[in-house]
Amino acid sequence: MAVLERTLMGPGPSNPYPEATAALSAPMLGHLDPAFLAILDETCDRLRAVWQTGNPRTLPISGTGSAGMEAAFVNLVGPGDVVVVGVNGLFGERMCEVARRGGADVVRAEAPWGRPLDPADVLAAHRAPKVIAVVHAETSTGVENDVAAVAAGKGDALVLADCVTSLAGIPVDIDGWDVDAAYSGTQKCVGVAPGLAPLTLSERAWERRVERPQSWYLDLGLVGEYVGGHGARKYHHTAPVSMIRSLHAGLGVVLEEGLEAVWARHAECGRQLHEGLQSLGLDLWVEAGHRLPELTTVLVPDGVDPHKVRAQLLERFSIEIGAGVGPHLDQMWRIGCMGHTARPANVALLLAALAEVLGR
Ligand SMILES: *Cc1c(COP(=O)(O)O)cnc(C)c1O
Repeated sequence: MAVLERTLMGPGPSNPYPEATAALSAPMLGHLDPAFLAILDETCDRLRAVWQTGNPRTLPISGTGSAGMEAAFVNLVGPGDVVVVGVNGLFGERMCEVARRGGADVVRAEAPWGRPLDPADVLAAHRAPKVIAVVHAETSTGVENDVAAVAAGKGDALVLADCVTSLAGIPVDIDGWDVDAAYSGTQKCVGVAPGLAPLTLSERAWERRVERPQSWYLDLGLVGEYVGGHGARKYHHTAPVSMIRSLHAGLGVVLEEGLEAVWARHAECGRQLHEGLQSLGLDLWVEAGHRLPELTTVLVPDGVDPHKVRAQLLERFSIEIGAGVGPHLDQMWRIGCMGHTARPANVALLLAALAEVLGR
């Protein structure tokens, strides 16, 4: 079968950093081999650097970003606990559902899709919630929510942030913002294949955890033992060895480039993309000031079949872009520019291909 090579400019996965892809084919190591354990430890150190945190409880959860979401909720929220969830897109909705299944009393603080949450609304939604949960980068709409402002006003509550599409793309500062729990995924800005969910938990969150979470697999007390770093290392489940080696390599690339440089590269690509799309006469959904550089929502012009355009970009140019989601399926495209994909050359290629396909 022919090997297809795509420029992945959808909502995810993005193209992995080549070093991360190469690590996937490294010879297998046993999950308790000291050489692997050293890689695991260093992966957690690298995660702390990328999250900008000193949290000892920082680890890759085995599973995609949604496993990180489940792990965060199941360990912090038990039956009857009040959770305020900021909802202005698909992933805020998913947080509500995950919290509800854990028996939480969910209080929604909403903004329309395509608009940012107002931190004051989120903070005013309930007088004494246990947890306030917010999506930092809403991949369904391309909106950035102000996690720092929510955390600044949290009072006694714990702040839980979804950073799946923000980590290693735009600034995320767990300790500086005083966020208590956050999770991400490997396949968005982190620039690794899908399969792991980097998670970090503050000591404050740890002290208020659910004693016996409903999930055994995602019980951070048990998972933490396998990762080590805070006490003796014990077998819990078999580490996804190849994925962890790949994450280790991907984070190495990010840290070698430098976080500031990685953010600047994403910001510059986003700027070029937003400008270029508007020069083609296309309208962006999200107002300037709240747009994510790594995920751009573009309104489909009248009379254009959005799915045909996507198919042509894929067939003729090997570029993948995403469709809209939920109620906006046929009304927009979602263009990702994340991780290794976030290069000016890819932006130029997409803009030229789109101009050609649209006849502009
Ligand atoms: C992609 C994404 C998720 C879910 O991650 P999966 O890897 O698909 O499980 C959660 N939240 C946000 C904001 C995302 O973009």
